[in-house]
Amino acid sequence: METSVQILKFGGTSVGSGESIRRVANIIAHKLSENEDAFPVVVVSAIAGVTDQLLRIARLACTGEYQNCELELSALKQTHVEAAKNLMLKREDRHHLDHDLEVTFTALESDIIDLQLGAIHKDEIALRTAAVAAWGERLSVLLVAAAACSAGVDAVPIREEAIITNHPQNETPQSLGTVIGAEPLAEETRVNTQRLVSPLIERHIVPIMPGFIARTITGHVITLGRNGSDYSATAIGAALDCTEVSIYTDVDGVLSADPRVVANARLLPRLTYSEAARLSWFGAKVLHPRTLIPIAHLNIPVRVRNTFRPHSRGTVVGPEKAQRSAAAAITVRHQLALITVENTDMFGAPENAGQVFALAARAGAAPVAICSSSGFHLSFMVEEQAADSILALLQHDMGTWHVTCQRGLAACACIGSGFSADPMSSARAITALARERIPVITQGASESGIILIVEDGDSERALRCLHRDLIAPVIPLVRHGTQEKRREAR
Ligand code: ADP
Ligand code: ASP
Ligand code: MG
Repeated sequence: METSVQILKFGGTSVGSGESIRRVANIIAHKLSENEDAFPVVVVSAIAGVTDQLLRIARLACTGEYQNCELELSALKQTHVEAAKNLMLKREDRHHLDHDLEVTFTALESDIIDLQLGAIHKDEIALRTAAVAAWGERLSVLLVAAAACSAGVDAVPIREEAIITNHPQNETPQSLGTVIGAEPLAEETRVNTQRLVSPLIERHIVPIMPGFIARTITGHVITLGRNGSDYSATAIGAALDCTEVSIYTDVDGVLSADPRVVANARLLPRLTYSEAARLSWFGAKVLHPRTLIPIAHLNIPVRVRNTFRPHSRGTVVGPEKAQRSAAAAITVRHQLALITVENTDMFGAPENAGQVFALAARAGAAPVAICSSSGFHLSFMVEEQAADSILALLQHDMGTWHVTCQRGLAACACIGSGFSADPMSSARAITALARERIPVITQGASESGIILIVEDGDSERALRCLHRDLIAPVIPLVRHGTQEKRREAR
C-alpha cells in the first residue's frame, strides 16, 4: 500500500458514552490534521459493559428466559440511543444514525431468535453465541463514525469482519454465556483487510473498524476472545504494514501495577515486547496477552495512551534493542490451581514431562507457570476452571502417578529488567511477603522476573506490599493537626 498508516484503537471506556465518543472523534480529527503523521485507521471496542450484556442475552435466550432477555435487550438499545443523543449531531445526521442503529438492532434480534430456537448441539450454541457477542462492536462503529464525521473527518463505519481466523479447535465454551475465541490467519487477514480498507485510504476516508470480531475460513462470525480488541488492532495493523499501533484506554499507559489496586502506581514510559507480553500474561489487563504476536516480529511499536489525557506520552512498547526500559512492575493473575504430578519410580524418564503437558493441552489448557520439577515430580499452575479436566485426563492416562491439586491460588509476578538487574530483588520480594505474614505456596524465577504463588485471598495485599517494598514506598500522611490535638488532650 502506498500511504503509510497508523492504527488508533479505542477501548470500551473510551467509547463509553456520547461525551467520550466525541473526545475520540476529536483525537481522530487531530491526528488527521498533523500532516507528518501516518494516515489513521481506527479500531473500536463495544461500549463498556455491552459485550457482557450481549453474553447475558445469549444465555437467557438459550435457557428460555425470554422476559429477562427482552429487558436486557431494551437496556442495551437504550444505552446506544442515549449515546447517539449525546453526540450532538446535526438533525439530518442524527436521523441517519438512528436509522442505522435500528437496522442493526433488528439484525441482532434475528441472531438472538436463532439462539432461542434451541440450537441442539453445544458447538452450534457456541458459534451462535459468538454471533450475538459480535454486535457490540458493530454498533459502536456506527456511533464513532457519526461522531468523527461531525468533527469534520471523512469517515465510514466498516460492517464486515476484516480478520480471518482458523475454525476454532475447541468449539465448546466453558459454560453458557461465555464466548469462544479463534486465532487470526496472517495471510488471509492481510488480503481481506486490504480489500476492505485500501480503497478508502486511497480516497483519504478514515475506516472505523470493529475490534474483537472476525470471520472463520469456514464462514462463521467469531471473536478473538474476551478483551480481544487490542489483539485485533495489531492483527489489522500488521495486515496494513502500519507504522505504529496506539491503544487508547482509560489509564495513562502501562503502570507499575493496576492503579485500581495500588494508588501510587507509576507510569512505565518504555517496555520491551517481552516485558509487556509477560505483564499481560500475568494479569495486566491493559493489554490483551496476544496483542504483540502479530507485530513484534515486524518491530512495529505499540503506544498505550489515555483517551482522557491524549497529550500525555503514554508507554511505548518496542523491540529489545531499541528499548533500555529498566521497567519494574507487579501484576497478579487470579483463579489459578497448582497441579503436582509425582512418580517415585520413573518420572525421570525423558518423555514424562512431555506427556503431562500434552494431556493438559488435550484439555485445552496451557500451563500458566511451571513452578518446580525434579526427577520425580513436576508442578505447574493452570487456570482453576481447567483443573478438573486436566486432573481427569492425568488420572485416566497416568494411573500409577500420584496427582494432587491445590485451588484458590494467584500468581504475583514481579516483571522487568529493573528487577533482573538487581540481585537483591528476590530476597526483597520474599521478605516483603514474610513481613505481612503472607505464605508463599511456591515460586518460580527467570531472567525476566520472579513469580510468587500465594492464596488468592491474600493476593491484593501481596501486590500492595510487593509494590511498596520493591517499587514505590508509601509515604504515610502526617496529620500534624490531629497529632497536636491529641497531645493537647493528654
Ligand atoms: P479498554 O476497555 O480500554 O480495553 P481495559 O479495562 O481492558 O481497557 O484495560 C485498562 C485497565 O487495565 C485499567 O483501567 C486498569 O485498571 C487495568 N490494569 C491492570 N493492570 C494494569 C497496569 N499494570 N497498568 C495499567 N493498567 C492496568
Ligand atoms: N468488547 C470485547 C470485550 O468486552 C472486546 C474488548 O473490549 O476488547 O471482551
Ligand atoms: Mg482491554
